[in-house]
Amino acid sequence: MTFAVKTNMTPNLNSLKTDTRIKILVVDDIPVNIQLLQTHLSSAGYETVVANNGEEALKQFREHKPDLILLDIMMPKLDGFETCRILKQNKNSRFVPVIMVTALNEIEDKIKGIEAGADDFITKPFNKLELLARVKSLLRIKTLHDELQEKVKLLEQAKERLRELAVTDGLTKLHNYRYFREYLDRELLRAERHDTKVSVLMLDIDYFKHYNDTQGHLAGDEVLRSIAGLMRENIRSIDFAARYGGEEFVIVLSQTDAESARVVAEKIRMLVEEHPFAHEESQPNGKITISMGIATFPDDGKKAEKVVNTADQRLYQAKAAGRNQIIYQ
Ligand code: GH3
Ligand code: MG
Ligand code: MG
Repeated sequence: MTFAVKTNMTPNLNSLKTDTRIKILVVDDIPVNIQLLQTHLSSAGYETVVANNGEEALKQFREHKPDLILLDIMMPKLDGFETCRILKQNKNSRFVPVIMVTALNEIEDKIKGIEAGADDFITKPFNKLELLARVKSLLRIKTLHDELQEKVKLLEQAKERLRELAVTDGLTKLHNYRYFREYLDRELLRAERHDTKVSVLMLDIDYFKHYNDTQGHLAGDEVLRSIAGLMRENIRSIDFAARYGGEEFVIVLSQTDAESARVVAEKIRMLVEEHPFAHEESQPNGKITISMGIATFPDDGKKAEKVVNTADQRLYQAKAAGRNQIIYQ
């Protein structure tokens, strides 16, 4: 078998085990066979673990996690074929190479061995150099496989992180606008099917331009993060909070009518009003406050756009009416 691989994929037997030597499980019911195999393998620098039958082999595998298994066929209780089948069905041992030890010219054994999942064969009486060459070749494949698995894992983690980033607002760690729109469309469809209400709460910081102008943008960012935190901590796990844009936020409250949404909004309004923000006393009304507009599906509209627009209009009514308040009908 040849491998067309880049240099960074070159098999590196050292990476198989960083702190310990490569471990080989030798399974045979005849002690002298085990001794001979152990002598050959030890002379090549491999560590060995032994088992006298199939059941013990499975136990030793779990305990020692060997890198390769040398498996005799004729053994009492669980024979080599059955042991191999079990190993190849288990996700923890599936990719550990198995070399079956067969008697000379037993072609039927080889066919049964292949069917059981064996990776290679060595015939008795074995030649030391051939044994070591076969061991080395299978370990090389296992290393490539392990390295590939590691890369696949890293790739999956990177993909998951990208998926997260794509739906998250970097500053506040709430969901972003794009994800909010997707979520709301889905949530309204669900509410329609189950004949339930959904309330959308739009929230905007009062006189925030003034705060930025007097305290600086970084202090402003800190306020955005704190308000996001207050929102996150005071909604249910089935609710959804997102940064709508600049200093505007939105909360989607599932199975919630306008009156219940107003209670949630009032709690958040109060929390923000009472929260100590740095230098908030220089704000026009002496503190950082928020205004909110609430619209409810299906009462205020059946389409996401209509519900969001209505909440937005009510938010601006709240501003016009003096800020630090909620309009919900
Ligand atoms: P109103 O009470 O009517 O809402 O007045 P306002 O000053 O809050 O509203 P306006 O829309 O005039 O100003 C919003 C300000 O929000 C402008 C901008 O400086 C600030 N802003 C928007 N995004 C960010 C941000 O990411 N970080 C910071 N620090 N400020 C932001
Ligand atoms: Mg504002
Ligand atoms: Mg604004």
